[in-house]
Amino acid sequence: MQFSSAQARGKHPWLSGDRRQLYPHSLQFYLEPPTENISLVEFESLAIDRLKLLKTVENLGVSYVKNGDQYNSKLESELRKLKFPYKALTDDDYEARRKDHISHFILRLAYCQSEELRRWFLQQEMDLFRYRFSQLTDSLMQKFMEHVDLSFEALTARSLPSIQSDERLQPLLNHLSHSYVGPDYSVQKNTGKISLEQIDALSVKSFPLCMRQLHKALRDNHHLRHGGRMQYGLFLKGIGLTLEQALEFWKKEFIRGKVDADKFDKGYAYSIRHNYGKEGKRTDYTPYSCMKIIMSNPPSQGDYHGCPFRHSDPELLKQKLQSYKIPPSGITQILELVKGMHYQLACQKYFELTHDVDDIGFSLNHPNQYFTESQRLLSGGREPKKEVINSGNTQQRNNSQESMNSNSTLTSSNTTTDAELEGLEAYFTED
Ligand code: SF4
Repeated sequence: MQFSSAQARGKHPWLSGDRRQLYPHSLQFYLEPPTENISLVEFESLAIDRLKLLKTVENLGVSYVKNGDQYNSKLESELRKLKFPYKALTDDDYEARRKDHISHFILRLAYCQSEELRRWFLQQEMDLFRYRFSQLTDSLMQKFMEHVDLSFEALTARSLPSIQSDERLQPLLNHLSHSYVGPDYSVQKNTGKISLEQIDALSVKSFPLCMRQLHKALRDNHHLRHGGRMQYGLFLKGIGLTLEQALEFWKKEFIRGKVDADKFDKGYAYSIRHNYGKEGKRTDYTPYSCMKIIMSNPPSQGDYHGCPFRHSDPELLKQKLQSYKIPPSGITQILELVKGMHYQLACQKYFELTHDVDDIGFSLNHPNQYFTESQRLLSGGREPKKEVINSGNTQQRNNSQESMNSNSTLTSSNTTTDAELEGLEAYFTED
């Protein structure tokens, strides 16, 4: 594939035979788009690596003092791991510089498509550039400043019309800006390990806020609209509900509302079987990642799907967090992260506060990852800071807004539920 015209290619130092001329410095201002042909496979792999790098930059930027020792050493280790240039002094790192150059332009294309994406991309690239510039020696800084042309050129978005007509590239670019690079939670190692009776307690202890909100809405209204059924249904499948359990779970709840059993069997059961790949194209659908939930299909009035950190009014979010007994200082931190559009980091903070750990210890990308990590931690797979603030039972006792069904299940059989959860938690300590 090609990024620019044959005319531009004709001027390129590539043709001079000395590839070092192409990247005379380890640091780049990305003034010229790449002009070489690369395969779609390499295109995607370069883009995914840069996305991983920028997510690390985002994560470190809110966890550590920027350009402090810990920030710098963790960023250097990520650059090394992903094979991007990490030391300005190395001359012979052509492949790393090439990767830096091409991957930057691919993400530029993917992230220029909306104001929100643009801002996120610019922020992470600026932080990355600042770090790398600060690592240069004085003489290299001087050389770099002499080398670059600081004149401004209009944003990448202008080249979108021509890119959009390329049928191979556009789906890839759209996908990239929503892309998820973690494990596939449709692969079931835990199918059938959860009983329906455990779900109320689990929703309080181990569900991320998006799924806790959907569960509560389902219990309160005995119904969820399509977007909610998809998001929550696939999440439940990912935590281990079998098709038979899912049919029973949704049916029991829906027939408590306005849907009778016959209507459920004729209408809703089909889409549940569909989610499990038993109808239609028989695709085994994958639970949604955070990026997909955050970036696509925003909820409208009467919907409960989406990401509460992205889609809730900040005042409502604050009230919800207060009702879940999150301490005021924690709420302030979460709202600050939300204001800076760091939605997944806000969710990580929520995890830390509800599990009473100082450092979440992983980078959150998926609601099912949140669940698995929570179960691992609660089972003793990771050490909590002190006895876990019982985000489950304590909150459940104190929180009159939490699901009525949830309360009745727990107060009538706390011991049984805890014993059942123990077995489940033990299961999640296995890798
Ligand atoms: Fe759910 Fe992800 Fe949003 Fe957390 S960040 S609430 S897991 S969508």
